[in-house]
Amino acid sequence: MRKRLYIETWGCQMNLHQSEGLAGVMTRAGYTMVDRLDFADVVLFNGCMVRQKAEEKVYGRIGAVVEEKRKRGVTLGVGGCLGQVRGESLLKRFPAIDFVFGSGGHGSLPGLVSRVRDESSRVVACGQPTTIEEIPHVRSHRVSAMVTITEGCSNFCSYCIVPYARGPMRSRDPESILREVEGAIESGAEEVLLLGQNVNAYGSDRPEFGGFATLLARVAETGIPRVRFTTSHPRDMTGDVLDVMASTANLCHHLHLPVQSGSDRILAAMNRGYTVERYLEIVRAARERIAGINVTTDLIVAYPGETEADFAETMRLIEDVRFGSIFVAKYSPRPLTRSARVEDDVPESEKGERLERILACQRRIALEENERFIGREVEVLFEGAARSGGCVGRAKDHRTVVARGGAIGELATVRIEGASAAGLSGSVLVPQRIEGRR
Ligand code: SAM
Ligand code: SF4
Repeated sequence: MRKRLYIETWGCQMNLHQSEGLAGVMTRAGYTMVDRLDFADVVLFNGCMVRQKAEEKVYGRIGAVVEEKRKRGVTLGVGGCLGQVRGESLLKRFPAIDFVFGSGGHGSLPGLVSRVRDESSRVVACGQPTTIEEIPHVRSHRVSAMVTITEGCSNFCSYCIVPYARGPMRSRDPESILREVEGAIESGAEEVLLLGQNVNAYGSDRPEFGGFATLLARVAETGIPRVRFTTSHPRDMTGDVLDVMASTANLCHHLHLPVQSGSDRILAAMNRGYTVERYLEIVRAARERIAGINVTTDLIVAYPGETEADFAETMRLIEDVRFGSIFVAKYSPRPLTRSARVEDDVPESEKGERLERILACQRRIALEENERFIGREVEVLFEGAARSGGCVGRAKDHRTVVARGGAIGELATVRIEGASAAGLSGSVLVPQRIEGRR
């Protein structure tokens, strides 16, 4: 049987990285990756459950596989968080799906696929994930390598399906993390992105692993030019993490710290475990210790019961903090979650209007903040080719920079000449040699 594999991924960076793991285990089993569905013998859809829209997008793509199935034999597996939560019901609802996989147990995927293909059977394999698997990854990005440090989440924010879709938080052995970082460096990575749903709770389930600050310092000691991490939770933010960020040259000056709402009443209903004042205190402490740190966030608008007054508090928070960028979504009730039992009472038109108001406000703030960079020199790590020519990369504070000149994988000083709400643009002044590396 031919073994050409195509993977499509929806959702967060954890999902993107899990797809790198799916590609890793499957290529080890003899599969070849292809970048078109119509070239594939096996198709994997690694789906997201965080919002209703994300779930529907996956269902919307199944038709394309049905079309291929009509022409020739193609095996379709649908899974990830989507498979973990929806399980067997996916087989019933979509006859085109041959098997459902979960958010863990990916090491046994090749065996599962062989069984499905040999026996033409339909299978569900979604055991509750309880460990962190050590599997190979086919990295989609040469310059920046994603490395998992925690899996799952035990926070149970009232709106969020992640604890159900990914199981309880598990911290990964630091030695294994460091081995993976060293491996990524050897393969040419210039940056490592440490991943987890709540990275700053690292080690809280395994005190013998040490805390997040210790881990950050050890990863930085490998000498990789840049270390990033996401996502941090305000409840678990401690001063030692900020101290390590302030004192370690290769830790990036970016803190993605989802606030979700600017109303204490809504934060309590969401079970977030902090107040607006505490959040502002963390931002102040970060800015005092790390000059120029870029704080970014996630927000949910129109959580059940959110009044115009609650929303006004969120708008005020955005004005006060002046985030570098935000990711904002309309509240979407999710199965199993606590808030799904409460009426989703903000009308759809109101949800849309609040979303638009936040986005417009943030566009103005981001433009004003980015314009302050014009005339300055920033260090940029180039990650890809820009559509407009030149290269696109990230400043140390995670701002997107498009530059004339530069080469992918290069660290360069760029003089900023232009700004938009989306980022900065400029010209390369001095390509920097990346020193101190093997
Ligand atoms: N662990 C991170 C944290 O605590 O902020 C975020 C992980 S979650 C997968 C990513 C983002 O999706 C959240 O920050 C939240 O803004 C959004 N999200 C999660 N559940 C949602 C829901 N039911 N409706 C709308 N947005 C949601
Ligand atoms: Fe979801 Fe909250 Fe966990 Fe983030 S911390 S993954 S929002 S439950």
